[in-house]
Amino acid sequence: MIEHRNFIGGEWLAAAATRPIVNPATDEVIATVAESSAADVAVAVRAARDAFDSGPWRTTTAQARGRVLFHMAAVVREHADRLAEIETRTCGKPIVESDMDVQDAATCLEYYGGLATKIHGETLPVPDNAINLTLKEPVGVVGLIVPWNYPLLLAMWKLGPALSAGCTVVLKPAEQTPLSMLEFARLVHEHVPELPPGVFNVVTGDGPVAGRALVESMEVDKIAFTGGTETGREVLHGVARSNLKKVSLELGGKSPNIFFTDCDLDAATDGALFGVFINQGEVCSAGSRVLVQREIAAEFMTRMREKTARIRLGDPLDRATKMGPLVSREHADRVLAAIERGRQEARLVAGGGRPAAQARGCFVEPTIFESDNSAWIAREEIFGPVVTVIPFTDEADAIRIANDTPYGLAAAVWSRDIFRCLRVVKAVRAGIVWVNSMQPCYVESPWGGYKQSGHGREMSLHGQEEFLETKQVHINLGEAPLAWY
Ligand code: NAD
Repeated sequence: MIEHRNFIGGEWLAAAATRPIVNPATDEVIATVAESSAADVAVAVRAARDAFDSGPWRTTTAQARGRVLFHMAAVVREHADRLAEIETRTCGKPIVESDMDVQDAATCLEYYGGLATKIHGETLPVPDNAINLTLKEPVGVVGLIVPWNYPLLLAMWKLGPALSAGCTVVLKPAEQTPLSMLEFARLVHEHVPELPPGVFNVVTGDGPVAGRALVESMEVDKIAFTGGTETGREVLHGVARSNLKKVSLELGGKSPNIFFTDCDLDAATDGALFGVFINQGEVCSAGSRVLVQREIAAEFMTRMREKTARIRLGDPLDRATKMGPLVSREHADRVLAAIERGRQEARLVAGGGRPAAQARGCFVEPTIFESDNSAWIAREEIFGPVVTVIPFTDEADAIRIANDTPYGLAAAVWSRDIFRCLRVVKAVRAGIVWVNSMQPCYVESPWGGYKQSGHGREMSLHGQEEFLETKQVHINLGEAPLAWY
């Protein structure tokens, strides 16, 4: 069993305590990692601060930074199988999904490697004899805090643009799933020597201790956070209590997946299930509210139930598996408790418990409820394989229900009538809207939420902006400065 340490300033440093990491498919402890205290985090922040203030990273050329990111991406691709296996062993997702995540992680690094040389300011036509322009500069030392559902990929969504901009970082993975990030750090340390020490640091540990220390550090210039909405609120309090650092938040969701009578029922029911059950439903953009027009609701439900019964649960390292265990015993118990509570108000149509065939591991059956949008199970983010089917009458009713949530991350609409689809696209208050599809996600395109699903955007050019400051420069071309006094 490997005992992992923190990666700080290009070295592996132990913390005072350790934390066990459990494989949720087998309930076995597979490694230990550092349980960092606030003091351990401060050491990492100091390393990142020194690397930003005095190191070569932010003043190196954009081309050189881009090449480092391309090199990192190549290393990820070269060791993709190992990274994918580690991911599956710690978060339980089927290995075929981990394979895709690792490739997407490399693609993300390549995208931001290419973008390093496209960061530029503008010249502004001010009404004076002057040149007025903007410079784009790295925001500084950034704390990256990531969740457990896409541990490597979501880290790259932040690391790519941060490094591309010239920032230095301290990354804190989720408690349950730090191993792929530690392996990534080991690979970078061994194979990418051109990345200066202290530019990229990893500290593991508890959110309310290590995460909070990062959030409240006076030496950190920005926090890029992905996690639950309540934790996001805590992050904002911590930022307000400390140095008012910049912050971007990618938070929770309860996304509507809307089906009109003229949709292709077979493709639509596939889309409804894929939209919510991919990654065991542990997806921020999960289509956990399936809104179905009343005339097709019965047939839609029958097909969903039949297809759900065929979803193959089991060993996530088996390539035929379509659904693995949830990330931890604690989370599986939380999801099962939510299902119990859901039964009090909503009709249970499929699933609802632990699968009988799985003697060990944190498995939960794919579960379908039917209710209206007022039921607790239809309103709360469960973050597991649980979907609520909600019938609606017409387009206006669908839009009303879709928007009746404090969240606004994503939505999808299915119909053969493109004008109807486009009306829904415009009416739904969400950061991402898919038409006749759900969940495709591209680094070229912005990701982020309206309402309580977050602040800011990740990926794309918008994601790059989050790691940049804009400096105005005014160059007086007049013969003398303004004579006022
Ligand atoms: P979480 O909020 O419990 O934890 C996320 C991260 O924050 C972890 O690294 C954790 O250690 C850290 N953390 C916890 N408390 C903290 C504190 N007080 N200060 C600083 N850091 C703290 O979330 P989770 O359970 O790991 O992930 C699930 C949530 O993440 C869901 O709500 C999901 O919707 C959301 N999520 C959102 C997106 C998105 O792009 N919008 C993507 C993935 C997950």
